Amino acid sequence: MKLFSRQTPVFRNCINGQWLAARSGKIFEDRNPADTREIVGLFPSSGSADVNHAVSAAKEAFRFWSLVPAPKRGLILYEIGRALTQRKEELAELMTREMGKVLEEARGDIQEAVDMAFYAAGEGRRLFGDTTPSELPDKFCLSVRRPVGVCAIITPWNFPMAVPSWKIFAALMCGNSMVFKPSEDAPATGTRLVEIMQDCGVPSGVINLVHGDGTVGRALVAHPDVNLVSFTGSCAAGREIAQVCGKHLKKHSLELGGKNAQIVMDDADLKLAMEGALWGAFGTSGQRCTATSRLILHKKIKQKFLRQWIPAIKKLSVGNGLAEGVQVGPIVNQAQMERVKSYVRIGLKEGARLLTGGKPATSGELRYGHFFEPTVFDRVTPSMRIAQEEIFGPVVGVLETESLEEAIEILNGTSYGLSSSIYTRNVNQAFKAIRDLDAGITYVNGPTIGAEVHLPFGGIKNTGNGHREGGRTVFDIFTEWKAAYIDYSQKLQRAQIDT
Ligand code: NAD
Repeated sequence: MKLFSRQTPVFRNCINGQWLAARSGKIFEDRNPADTREIVGLFPSSGSADVNHAVSAAKEAFRFWSLVPAPKRGLILYEIGRALTQRKEELAELMTREMGKVLEEARGDIQEAVDMAFYAAGEGRRLFGDTTPSELPDKFCLSVRRPVGVCAIITPWNFPMAVPSWKIFAALMCGNSMVFKPSEDAPATGTRLVEIMQDCGVPSGVINLVHGDGTVGRALVAHPDVNLVSFTGSCAAGREIAQVCGKHLKKHSLELGGKNAQIVMDDADLKLAMEGALWGAFGTSGQRCTATSRLILHKKIKQKFLRQWIPAIKKLSVGNGLAEGVQVGPIVNQAQMERVKSYVRIGLKEGARLLTGGKPATSGELRYGHFFEPTVFDRVTPSMRIAQEEIFGPVVGVLETESLEEAIEILNGTSYGLSSSIYTRNVNQAFKAIRDLDAGITYVNGPTIGAEVHLPFGGIKNTGNGHREGGRTVFDIFTEWKAAYIDYSQKLQRAQIDT
């Protein structure tokens, strides 16, 4: 791959339809994690002046956008879905260059946004409310949805198109305006999304884009004219956001970390379970909120499973996600590399046994990027830190179980509750798992990753604060319910009194 073969592109914020540099003139670099010699682009390092400008544009735009009929808003979303489909290849390549996931997965990330565009577009002719009888005669009751107002959309780098689309398309459909702050580790894909939205007819000011790091996110969260914060990212940032929003009684939806596990029972189709674990643990180099980071194996099949699974891991091809045949791309940045390394040290210190991996991959061209070997620890016990804390890298801990009940207890024994999986051929065990696993998602005979946009997505415990993106539930985040009572009795009727 050629490096520095052209001028490094300069990207801008988008405020009220105008493409602008940061008021301060400051910039930051976005580098390719597969080859850090390549600068993908230069981006505005925004500050509170840019945030204020963007929020005031969104506030102004909300006045008219909220009054546009929902089916018309939906038509724009159909256009966006079509444009994303047409540009899938180019967008996927950009995504791989800026955050590293392999090209096939990057295409999937764009496809998820296409699915979300069409799903949200269809909601233009639904956005259903309820009608219900009144307890009083000659009185009519209904409930309707209203948009919330100006939304701050703050997103992580690991799904740079899909995660913003879950939020932005739903918010747009419901009649909100917004300020979008993509991750500083994947700002180019977010910029292309906003360009496409503009080209497809989203009016100026309805979607504004402000680049920068967490300080920009903080300024948005604290802004008095931001009515809703929709955030996906780490628990640490989510906790901070919740505190600020709590103080100002601001609506906020948080999608945070995970410590997901796959259970494999002794009656499972082992080949299927191994394939699932490979994809769940090492897809996106383990950098998914739903990644499999614990494998809970039934004692009776554990040795057989590991004997066949470890050689398959050793065969995984680690490298630049743009290259044909590569299965595991880089870690997103140096800080995350250090975090992964530190967890390997912690695992060894805690007494877990390293079965494979455990160190950076540095052969040949890999030395220019942040690559880490797919890593498996055996003899992990539930209380170890590597079994409790989110690592966010290609590292899996294997735990042993003798029964379904024990497996469920182990799986439930962390502070997170996002995704879970069980491999079994026994329908009774499958339904018990669906009932008893403390997680927002349970897969039966599938890995912990692979959500579809029309189902609720999110988790319990420290994974979030009770909202669900995706599915019809996402429209509850981006609307407020209003109850309306129409009394046509022509007299005062008092609820609960004149019964
Ligand atoms: P991060 O929390 O570091 O950053 C996420 C975004 O928030 C970025 O845009 C960042 O600039 C901004 N930010 C950081 N601190 C902030 C603050 N105090 N106030 C406002 N904004 C702030 O997370 P990341 O490293 O980009 O992403 C990885 C994390 O995201 C993992 O924990 C992963 O599990 C989680 N994640 C969760 C889901 C989900 O749906 N539950 C999906 C993807 C990723």
